[in-house]
Amino acid sequence: MSFLDRFRSKKAKPKEEKKAAPAPKAEAPKSHKAEAASCAGKTAASVEASQLAFSDLVESGQPLVSYKFGLGAPPGGKINLAIYWAAACGGCDVSILDINNGVLTVGDMANIVMWPVAADGKEKDIAAMEDGSITVSIISGAVRNSENEHMVKLLRKKSAIVVSYGTCACFGGSPALANLVKGGKDEILDYVYTKVPSTANFQADYHKGSPVVPQSHVKAPEGDLELPVLYDTVKTLDQVIDVDYYVPGCPPLQESISHLLKAVADLLYNGVALPPKGTTVGVVTKTLCDQCHRRKEFRRVSKIVEPHEIDVDPELCLMDQGILCLGPATVGGCNARCTSAGQPCRGCYGPTVAVQEHGASALTAIASLFPVLDEDPTCGEDQIIDVMSTIRDPLGYFYAYTMGKSLIKRSVTEKGGN
Ligand code: SF4
Ligand code: SF4
Ligand code: SF4
Repeated sequence: MSFLDRFRSKKAKPKEEKKAAPAPKAEAPKSHKAEAASCAGKTAASVEASQLAFSDLVESGQPLVSYKFGLGAPPGGKINLAIYWAAACGGCDVSILDINNGVLTVGDMANIVMWPVAADGKEKDIAAMEDGSITVSIISGAVRNSENEHMVKLLRKKSAIVVSYGTCACFGGSPALANLVKGGKDEILDYVYTKVPSTANFQADYHKGSPVVPQSHVKAPEGDLELPVLYDTVKTLDQVIDVDYYVPGCPPLQESISHLLKAVADLLYNGVALPPKGTTVGVVTKTLCDQCHRRKEFRRVSKIVEPHEIDVDPELCLMDQGILCLGPATVGGCNARCTSAGQPCRGCYGPTVAVQEHGASALTAIASLFPVLDEDPTCGEDQIIDVMSTIRDPLGYFYAYTMGKSLIKRSVTEKGGN
């Protein structure tokens, strides 16, 4: 039976697995990849997806990062760690470095076998590895093209644990807004390569009459060239492969990646079981409003405004000032970093655990601020529609980060329609 088969069969037998207590330090596992998979599979079978927050660690008295560099390799030897970006901006990769000297702890416990933004390690190197021989793969970005899909499937096959890291991987993020383009990839490529001023000028100067746009197969004097195939629909990571843990945020907070590092270090050095499979790291059960310091007065607003259009009261809820804020529909975890700085929440941490449709949830929360009262002739249905109509780009606003997980999925053009 292969390593991954063992992992999967354990998931199917939760009761038997319950007997297998986490290994004490003195009996640290010889194979960390097997232990890691066992812990994730064991808990996945018996515990619902949950949240694991920075505050939980603090409340339980555990330090955020209990492992200092200089410990040397863990008892079972260094693990293999892969970090990969699919359709990502690189911000998530940079955020991993936010753990400061925690990076040295990573150096103690792991061989980084792939990290395109910072280290060597090519596709062929990963393909040559034994299945399951990478203990943890941290993957950021949405799945946008055939190369993304190939790489995440390859890393899944080679990894005991896959972490969906950042909002693009978890919810599609801004790349998934492309799903709203009715004409799909063809319309996007045409617009980007022939319509925006810089490329339109280039095409007019050098390819007048037959503009050049990227192709997946090109014959060149050097031979046949291949580029990844762009997909019409951008997908979240867990729509393409099985995912063990989620770390939302655009990018995730330093606390989140430190928390992830601590969980892995706890496993490797002390045999402490990993959190349940499906855990979202760095979020709480309540909404962002619960973490926001701003005073809520539940005022009726008569106009939707942007922050730059008014003098923003630093103490008052932004919604009370007519600024659309997705805090009521967004899961807490970031300690309200945007609203603390006078900017509305745009929802990068995604919805609370009970909600899939983040945008609709935000719309509902906002609609509740505009109750139609029979005895209030100044704010009837027509006035409310007028106010709501002033929201610019509502789809883009309410689904800025979560279109990939939306039930809307994508825009389509019906035959004969527009
Ligand atoms: S989640 Fe944000 S920081 Fe991370 S890759 Fe996506 S856009 Fe960049
Ligand atoms: S709506 Fe926004 S500004 Fe108001 S309390 Fe909630 S998070 Fe804070
Ligand atoms: S306030 Fe909202 S948009 Fe800003 S970091 Fe937090 S969840 Fe993301």
